Amino acid sequence: MSKQVARFCTIGASFVMLFTLYGCAVSTDEILVENQNAYIEALKNVQPGGTIKLADGVWEDFEILFTGIGTAEKPITLTAQTKGKVILSGQSNLRLAGEHLIVSGLVFKDGYTPTSEVVSFRRNNEELANNSRITEVVIDNYNQPERYEVDFWVLMYGKNNRFDHNHLVGKRNKGVTMAVRLNTIDSQENHHRIDHNYFGPRPILGSNGGETLRIGTSHYSRTNSFTIVENNYFDRSDGELEIISNKSGRNTFRNNTFYQSRGTLTMRHGNNNLVEGNVFFGNGADHTGGIRVINGGQTILNNYMEGLKGTRFGGAFVVMNGVPNSPINRYDQVKDANISRNTIVNSDNIQLAAGSDAERSAAPVDSRFANNLIFNADGRDTFTIYDDVSGIDFSDNIIGRAAPNSLGYGFKVMDINMSRAENSLLYPEDNGIENVGVSRDLKPTSKDATGVDWYPKAEPLIAFSSGQTIEVQPEEGALFNAVQAAKAGDILLLVPGHYVVSKFLKLDKPLTFKGADDVHISYERSTLFQIEDGGSLQLINLNISGADAPDNAGNSVIRTSPYAMLQNYRLEIIDTSFSDLDVNHSFNVMTVAKGTFADQILVRNSTFADVTGAVFKLDKESDDFGIYNAEYLTIGNSTFDNIKGALVDFYRGGTDESTFGPHFSLQNSTLSNVGSGKRNKSKSSMQLHGVQVTDMSGNIFKDSRPFLINHTVGEPKTRITKNKFVATPAPLVSELNSGLAPTAVLQDNEGINP
Ligand code: CA
Repeated sequence: MSKQVARFCTIGASFVMLFTLYGCAVSTDEILVENQNAYIEALKNVQPGGTIKLADGVWEDFEILFTGIGTAEKPITLTAQTKGKVILSGQSNLRLAGEHLIVSGLVFKDGYTPTSEVVSFRRNNEELANNSRITEVVIDNYNQPERYEVDFWVLMYGKNNRFDHNHLVGKRNKGVTMAVRLNTIDSQENHHRIDHNYFGPRPILGSNGGETLRIGTSHYSRTNSFTIVENNYFDRSDGELEIISNKSGRNTFRNNTFYQSRGTLTMRHGNNNLVEGNVFFGNGADHTGGIRVINGGQTILNNYMEGLKGTRFGGAFVVMNGVPNSPINRYDQVKDANISRNTIVNSDNIQLAAGSDAERSAAPVDSRFANNLIFNADGRDTFTIYDDVSGIDFSDNIIGRAAPNSLGYGFKVMDINMSRAENSLLYPEDNGIENVGVSRDLKPTSKDATGVDWYPKAEPLIAFSSGQTIEVQPEEGALFNAVQAAKAGDILLLVPGHYVVSKFLKLDKPLTFKGADDVHISYERSTLFQIEDGGSLQLINLNISGADAPDNAGNSVIRTSPYAMLQNYRLEIIDTSFSDLDVNHSFNVMTVAKGTFADQILVRNSTFADVTGAVFKLDKESDDFGIYNAEYLTIGNSTFDNIKGALVDFYRGGTDESTFGPHFSLQNSTLSNVGSGKRNKSKSSMQLHGVQVTDMSGNIFKDSRPFLINHTVGEPKTRITKNKFVATPAPLVSELNSGLAPTAVLQDNEGINP
């Protein structure tokens, strides 16, 4: 349709015949626009009850300002010619201001907002949207190119707005995915409704600022919001330790599903909130949590939690201690909490009076914990009690299987069996148990019931070795060409021989390099593999030599892009040997750049010999912003011999407690002569600064420098057990900020004093 016709479409009913003549298949109060100028014209002319349709296609750099005054009966609508076929890309965004506006059917992808919001329910500080609705809008990987540049995908202002059936997936840069703001009186007591949205996978950010939904801020947290959050699906919302951060009063969180999401629904600030009928499935994944209760008047009713592995504040169910007369940004005491009819099954941690310390000394008061069902198939006690909980009235709770409990009253221990009902939840088989645990008619919100049906809820990762196997010969350029031609998930199967690689192998997709048998690789550039955005690398059964690398300092075998990367990557090294990384100094196995993040680095059955630098150099986030370079570094059954630098330099600075990682595990491995190089600044064989979880066992440390472990925040868990130290000093552990005595557990180690 031409631009002229688009304009004519505004005029009126008497032109219906004319429109038909021109092939204008829209009704009189619909205006189809094909470009930004036409949109601006249409907006000037649109009347209450009218609809502006954006023509199908890609709209580049379109900062949509949608303003108008509709009525409840005659709202003004902005929608797509065909839902899902209107793509806002490049530097596009959407602002709404006015009354009774509806936006639907748009897709934001392939770009990022030039402002700090993709979708905002306001034009500016003065002009807000009220009684308006955004529905069936998709925001897919619409991220700032810089990982730590903050923006928000959706900010709700005004009153009585609804955000429903939207699909938000793949926020990878810093900043809450969606927030409700209460920063002026016109946005308080707002009665917004956020429902039936699909909050798709959000990967680990590796810093604070990765919440999926926040309501309020600490500053306005004693203000009521009256926001309803219901029937949403949170799918692997892993950004940081708060999935939802509630920071205002009188909100309702009802019937949401949390599927395998790291973190908790945190009632961080604000009073008198209702958390009811929510379902948490942890599937046994690390750091999956449930509900964390803080402040007064909270009701936690009829929620179901299963398979949650979270610990500490990230546990399945946590009631915190408060600060007496707390400042607004700290912890208000739990008071008048009603915690009833919840089921917590096969989950690791229930914590009461959590966080009790000299500052957080106000234990919960005037609260009840009644008719809850707690069941663990293995019968273990999952309660940890940190302070006086006599201010909680425990009654009519049931603990399944003869679990001991540290409370001694208010719980009936029963040897029950659980079976799965049609609604996919576990219930006791014993029909005599009534009014304990979640109700039989609780209906979990399914993924299908959320988002839109015209946009796929795709899996976030392509697994290694999930594609085709492509045979590669040891011929000039063959490996480089194979990488270019391969598809994500493919396996490059290297036939036996010696491969000399003369170009960088740059990876922007997950690929596996697998040696069929005796495969040797050497290379002539400063690195062999470069992992770029979208790339991941798996090495299996290879022998990699640095002997042909240039005679310069600072080579590596694997490195990330030298620029910040939005996408997290994975690296797996299996049955592979590395040698002769010694043509010059500071030759690392793995070098990462600032602003890059590995979900997982895994090493199994591999050997590393004669390295002049470090094996894993993960220390580029030195600003102490609480950012780090890798979530998990997991090493097993491997050998490190004659390494001048450290096996690992791991750095997570800052003193905030917003991340679960980094994690480091070293099992059944041998270190010989590691860390002695004069350029090794830490003078250690391993430097773990701010690592949250460390587990080393069954290793042999020979002729090596000591490890240096700095605990910086929270309660890091460090376990060093059943290792053998030969001519290697004991680990040096220090607590930098907590004032605590060293908390590392050193047990059953040979060759050092315990
Ligand atoms: Ca946070």
